[in-house]
Amino acid sequence: THELLVNSEKLNVAGQLAAGIAHEVRNPLTAIKGFLQLMETEDDGNKSYFDIIQSEMDRIELILSELLVIAKPHELKFEAVDLITLLENVKTLIETQAVINGIQIETIFNYHNFTINCDKNQLKQVFINILKNAVEAMPKGGFITMEVKQYGCNMVKIFFKDTGYGMPPEILKRVGEPFFTTKEDGTGLGIMISKQIVENHGGTINIWSDQQGTMIEVLLPIASVRLH
Ligand code: ADP
Ligand code: MG
Repeated sequence: THELLVNSEKLNVAGQLAAGIAHEVRNPLTAIKGFLQLMETEDDGNKSYFDIIQSEMDRIELILSELLVIAKPHELKFEAVDLITLLENVKTLIETQAVINGIQIETIFNYHNFTINCDKNQLKQVFINILKNAVEAMPKGGFITMEVKQYGCNMVKIFFKDTGYGMPPEILKRVGEPFFTTKEDGTGLGIMISKQIVENHGGTINIWSDQQGTMIEVLLPIASVRLH
């Protein structure tokens, strides 16, 4: 357990460093973008160069905004949150994108109310990342199942299952490495950041996958539970 502890502390330092760098780089980037827009209106001889510069800048911004999600631990805002309500909100957020892609989302919430201590926005980000990956893995449609149940006496398990193209073992092994992506426009930061956030909440993420699809469980400590 000592080794594990050291390991997650290391991750934390790396995460803080990444968030710090992202923060520092964003200001000069915003300035450059502004001047670029000015130059574009003054000189239209180099349109395609401006287009390339601008789309590359957009990509840098996307990567920075993903990295900024890992706030410094002292900036985390922990509060008592109803897990099911939070999951319903996330489901609503992703539903349009799912429907457009012919994907049905089923929820199994088992009539429990789980209160967890968390930074609401960060945890939301975790579930959005997982559901977005599921949607992206089903270009021809399919099903997503979200199930919530108690795990042991003080944890809750949030279980996600999709019927997408899944991952072969050599890909599964690398998921969560910073910048590891198999997508043309992916950032390869979603799972890494999600793992970091869940660990900051005293939880863990486990992933299984084959050609039938992917299963992801998020385990989190419960503050309190009651039947409704
Ligand atoms: P990104 O989505 O930007 O590629 P992520 O960290 O979210 O970055 O995911 C990393 C990689 O893990 C993806 O590129 C994909 O290959 C794989 N992956 C993640 N979730 C799934 C899933 N539900 N089904 C299939 N592959 C997945
Ligand atoms: Mg992703």
